[in-house]
Amino acid sequence: MVKVVKFGGSSLASAEQFKKVSDIIHSDDSRRYVVPSAPGKRFPSDIKVTDMLYECYSLAAKGKNYKASLDAIKKRYYEIIHELGIDLSLENEFKIIETAFVGRSGRDYAASRGEYLNGIVLAKYLGFQFIDSAEVIFFDDYGNFDADSTNKALSEKLSHLDYAVIPGFYGSMPNDTIKTFSRGGSDITGSIVAKAVKADMYENWTDVSGVLIADPRIINNPKVISTITYKELRELSYMGATVLHEDAIFPVRKEGIPINIRNTNSPEDMGTMIVESTSKKSEYTITGIAGKRGFTAVSIEKDMMNAELGFGRRVLEEFEKNGISFEHMPSGIDTMSVFVNQEEFGRKEQEVLAGIHRNTHPDSIDIESDIALIAIVGRGMKSTRGTAGRIFSALAHAHVNVKMIDQGSSELNIIVGVEDADFEKAIAAIYDIFVTVQL
Ligand code: ASP
Repeated sequence: MVKVVKFGGSSLASAEQFKKVSDIIHSDDSRRYVVPSAPGKRFPSDIKVTDMLYECYSLAAKGKNYKASLDAIKKRYYEIIHELGIDLSLENEFKIIETAFVGRSGRDYAASRGEYLNGIVLAKYLGFQFIDSAEVIFFDDYGNFDADSTNKALSEKLSHLDYAVIPGFYGSMPNDTIKTFSRGGSDITGSIVAKAVKADMYENWTDVSGVLIADPRIINNPKVISTITYKELRELSYMGATVLHEDAIFPVRKEGIPINIRNTNSPEDMGTMIVESTSKKSEYTITGIAGKRGFTAVSIEKDMMNAELGFGRRVLEEFEKNGISFEHMPSGIDTMSVFVNQEEFGRKEQEVLAGIHRNTHPDSIDIESDIALIAIVGRGMKSTRGTAGRIFSALAHAHVNVKMIDQGSSELNIIVGVEDADFEKAIAAIYDIFVTVQL
C-alpha cells in the first residue's frame, strides 16, 4: 500500500502543527510521499507565508526596503525550527532568495519559496529525503503543466526512494525559471505525485473533517459527507463549495486513485472519500448543497417564438459576442430566460440588449438581478421519488419564492433560483428537510 499525503498551510503553520503532521505520517508506514504547502495562518488574522513572500518580493523588485518583510518570513521558519529542536540553518537559502528577489527573479519564484523552505524543514524533521520540485515537475514554454515529462521524471526519481518530501505548488519551465500553479496549487502537486507513484490513496490533510454537506457559514455544524463521487464534487465546487483545487482531480481521477480529505487536528475522523463511482448510498437522499449569489435573469418574450428556427441560437450569440457565458436557460413556449453572472453582464448589458433587439425582434425583454442559484446535488436522487417535491415544500414552508427550477438530465442535481435575500433561508430549509429531519 502506498499513500501520498498532502498537508495544507494550516496543517504546517507552527511547530505544534508539524508535530501533529509527523505523528500522522509515522503512524502509518504506507504514508511515504509527503507534499507540504507553505506555512499558513496560525490564527484568523495571521498572514500566510505565501502572501508575505509576494509582499516582500514586490518591495524588493521596486527597489524599496524589503528587509523587515524578509525578516518576518525568516522568523516564521526559525520559530518552527527552534521549537521542533532540529539542527538546521536556512541562512544560505535565505541569501540566495534575497539576491534573487533584488534581481527580480519573478513573483512565481518568490511565492514558490514558501513550499520549498517548508519542504526542507519537514524533510529534516521526518528524516525523509527532500526533492526540489523544480527538478521533477515541469511546465512547457507557454507555462502549461507538462503532464507527460513530469510523470516520467517523477516516477523515475521516486522509484529509487521509499520516503520523500516533494514541496507543493511549483515546478520549472524549460528555461529553468520557476513557475507556480494557481493559488491552492499544492493540491495539484499531491495529485501529480499520487499518479506518478501509482498510489493506492491520495490523502489530502486540511483543517476540516472532510467535505461538508453545506456551507458552515450558513448551517451551524453541518454534517460531513462520507463518500462523494468526482461528478458530485464538481457540481458542488462549481457552485462555490471550496474543498480542493479543481485541477487536482484530473491526474488521480484518470488513474482511479481515490482522494481522502482528512483533518490534521482530528486525525481519528475518517473524513471524506472522493471516488469515481461507488455502490455506497449517501446517508441522506442528497449528498450536498451549495449555492452562489449574484446572477441576472434576462427573459425574452416573443409570440410564436417556438416556431422560429434559430431563435435561441441568435439570442445566445449576443451573449457569446460579448464574452458572457450563461449558467442556465430555462424556456417556455414563447419565452426563454438566460441566467448569467450579474457582474459580467452588467459591464456589457446595453451591447447585449441592443444585439438581441436587433437580431431577434422580441416583444419584450425583462431583466431581473440579485438572484441566487442553489444546487442540490446527489447521486441518490435518481432512484428516489419525491426529491423535488420535498425541496419545494421545504422552500414554501420557509416562505421562499422559487424563481427558476432546472434539473440536470443526469438527475444528479436540481438547481433552484431564489432572490438573493432568501439565499441563506433557502439553504437552511433544504438542509433541514433532508439532513436534520431526514425525511
Ligand atoms: N501556498 C500556496 C497558496 O497559498 C499554495 C497552497 O497552499 O496550496 O496558495
